[in-house]
Amino acid sequence: MSCSCNYFLLRGAHAPVGSKERLCRHLRRFYAQRGGLAPIVNMVLLDDVHFCESDQLWSGEVEGVPVAIAWREGDPWVTLYSRNNSPGQPAQFERFNYHLGRQDWADGRMPRFNAAVIKSMLGEWFGQ
Ligand SMILES: [Zn+2]
Repeated sequence: MSCSCNYFLLRGAHAPVGSKERLCRHLRRFYAQRGGLAPIVNMVLLDDVHFCESDQLWSGEVEGVPVAIAWREGDPWVTLYSRNNSPGQPAQFERFNYHLGRQDWADGRMPRFNAAVIKSMLGEWFGQ
């Protein structure tokens, strides 16, 4: 896969095949619209954050709910995605921001189903 945009020509084309840095927003949109990916993967692909080489991305389940967590070395803000609507409906994911230093959610917004466990995971990962 390749693209003719500036991002791809300047950066993406030089990134290893299979790495997230290879994906410009056009390729991300292509993969998201082609379907077949988990809804949370689509949300991360379509969001315009955390596709730099230095950004780290973790995905898995927390309390049975799919979660993706993205962070950048030296940045106290962690971005995460988690399901936030009622069980029994098609999953909808939202983005949340957490400040490692303050150990608190931005604007008091936190994931509905797993905020406490995520908070304690982040404490373990980042040493609090
Ligand atoms: Zn492109």
